[in-house]
Amino acid sequence: MTELPEIPFSRPHRAAAEDRYVLDALAGGRTAGDGPYTRRAAALLGGLVGGGTALLTTSCTHALEMTALLLDLAPGDEVVVPSFTFVSTANAYALRGAVPVFADCRPDTLCLDPRAVEAAVTPRTRAIVAVHYGGVGSDLAALAKIAESAGATLVEDNAHGLGGGYGDRPLGAIGALSTLSFHATKNIQCGEGGALVLHDPALAARAEVIREKGTDRSRFFRGEVDRYRWQELGSSYLPSDILAAVLTAQLEEFGAIQARRHAIWDSYDRELADWAAGHGVARQRVPAESRHTAHLYALLLPDAAARAGLLAHLAAAGIRAATHYQPLHSSPAGLRYGRVGPGGCPVTTDVADRLLRLPLSADLTEADVARVVTAVRGFRPGPS
Ligand SMILES: *Cc1c(COP(=O)(O)O)cnc(C)c1O
Repeated sequence: MTELPEIPFSRPHRAAAEDRYVLDALAGGRTAGDGPYTRRAAALLGGLVGGGTALLTTSCTHALEMTALLLDLAPGDEVVVPSFTFVSTANAYALRGAVPVFADCRPDTLCLDPRAVEAAVTPRTRAIVAVHYGGVGSDLAALAKIAESAGATLVEDNAHGLGGGYGDRPLGAIGALSTLSFHATKNIQCGEGGALVLHDPALAARAEVIREKGTDRSRFFRGEVDRYRWQELGSSYLPSDILAAVLTAQLEEFGAIQARRHAIWDSYDRELADWAAGHGVARQRVPAESRHTAHLYALLLPDAAARAGLLAHLAAAGIRAATHYQPLHSSPAGLRYGRVGPGGCPVTTDVADRLLRLPLSADLTEADVARVVTAVRGFRPGPS
């Protein structure tokens, strides 16, 4: 039997116009930030996040750091974040001396549990950061209400959720600030990249300054001031137009990329439903009001041993599956810089040990998907 090629967990899709746009950006000599491709990419993004101002950034991590600067966080201020998320969701605020307060997630959607958020709020709470895990919308109505009564800003870490929706709104349009990632592992990617989306013109004007080293250089380039000066704290958060060229090509294929990812996600969900139900395996729940983005396909095995077993079983079949986030509240830096909300994060600790993600990339073939489905169905979790 010839050995089948390995199915990677994730592989960046190559957009057709990428090479041409990159060469054009290089040939045009406009390789710094905020060139013509940055404008094209930002305009395409605006259409997907319900308008507002979309500022391309060097990463989602940097977009989150910009939210911390925009919020003028001071030492001792608190920001409620999930424990079940990527480190940047908390690190961005700890960098400014604020205290990340870790709240637990719901066991079904794996997004923030509003009851845990409510319990974690104190008079020092300045922001609540929702992460739409896998592009499944958090309980945004409840979180917006909690934020409002706490006098805190709702931020969406929308790294997984470009093009998703909650009710009749796009994800990223409900929080005053939202962030996107175009890291190589995301649905739309340029290697390293991100964006900050703002819906308040005053905040957008400040964000433009923060992103340009704390200067009003953007206004200078528009001819609105005759020299630019240091205005406030900032950094260099704008990506080269060469990367924006890649991103423009990717965003132009957004519909096709998403259609392919949804087809794969739907195949997994349909073909594995009986197997999951028969073996005590749970799937991430997508609430009726949520339109997800097929960013990842997650299975919750009965226990850590069953997950290790399925990972090994798939690896033996040449299929790379993956675990996901390690809880932040019990991580070395989480313990040092943050604090856990009342009740702790027992759901996060539990799901982090049992969750497994199946391969999901736009370029997986029907045959690849069938191979994954067959391999998963051939695994029997349970007493070994
Ligand atoms: C990927 C990711 C980030 C960080 O994105 P970068 O663009 O790599 O900085 C932040 N938050 C979440 C939820 C992510 O998945």
